Amino acid sequence: MDKEILAKYRKAGKIAGKVREYGLRLIKEGSLFLDVANAIEKKIIDLGGNIGFPTNIAIDEQAAHYTPCIADELRFRKGMVVKLDVGVHVDGYIGDTASTVEVGSNDNRMLIQASREALLNALDIVRGGIGSGMIAATIEDTIRSFGFRPISNLTGHGLGQYKLHTGVAIPNVRGPEKDVLKAGEVVAIEPFATKGEGWVKETDSSHIYQFIRDKRVKDASAQELLGYISGRWPNLPFSERWCGEFMERPRPALTRLVRSRAISSYPILRDRGGGMVSQAEHTLLVTHDGCEILT
Ligand code: MN
Ligand code: MN
Repeated sequence: MDKEILAKYRKAGKIAGKVREYGLRLIKEGSLFLDVANAIEKKIIDLGGNIGFPTNIAIDEQAAHYTPCIADELRFRKGMVVKLDVGVHVDGYIGDTASTVEVGSNDNRMLIQASREALLNALDIVRGGIGSGMIAATIEDTIRSFGFRPISNLTGHGLGQYKLHTGVAIPNVRGPEKDVLKAGEVVAIEPFATKGEGWVKETDSSHIYQFIRDKRVKDASAQELLGYISGRWPNLPFSERWCGEFMERPRPALTRLVRSRAISSYPILRDRGGGMVSQAEHTLLVTHDGCEILT
């Protein structure tokens, strides 16, 4: 890999790792999701990075894709199992990392340990030339050894400049997957463990959006917002919260833009059986004889 690109990945990864740990310390009984997300995103900028995607705070049976909305009133409560997933980019090169904590209690310690250990075991065997199926089997076996289920329809993924999911897929269960990891590739590995069914379904809107295309829409304020979005976040996901910089109440305009397919909205992903979910994720550079953990 080009030296300058690698330096950007390393910088993004280092900041992402720092803000993940910073964010985890902010998660306390009674504090607002909104304050935690805003503090994390401010910290990313303060450390010299750019926000890769809206801070994901997924609770209990949610696996991913919730971010606080403008004036979000959700607060952390005792016993919540919280997945914090953060993204940082430097010139489009992204560090993507996640960890799970339980608020004020320890009832899901083993569930949290299961995804963490699955990640560590996967990192142990990664090297250039390994098949993604080998990594998947290791993740699956580790999670099952704890008595939980891996989530089979979520996967790790390759990363590229301004691309959050590209190239290889690294599943969390055995399957027909035939991708091979190459030295020099940057990938994210993200095991999910659950007490539920092990399959996520798409549910209500998450306040996370993705620009699709510029087009003419009937509503003038939606049209203006689309112009702003295409300038600010043409490639990576953005949130309703961030649109608050441009207009006071962006929700109706965002809804219109989704309806006219100028942008799309990410649904919240929940375990179909309603079971608690844990996640652990690192971004890494694959090398000839192993890997370099970037986050
Ligand atoms: Mn992630
Ligand atoms: Mn990821």
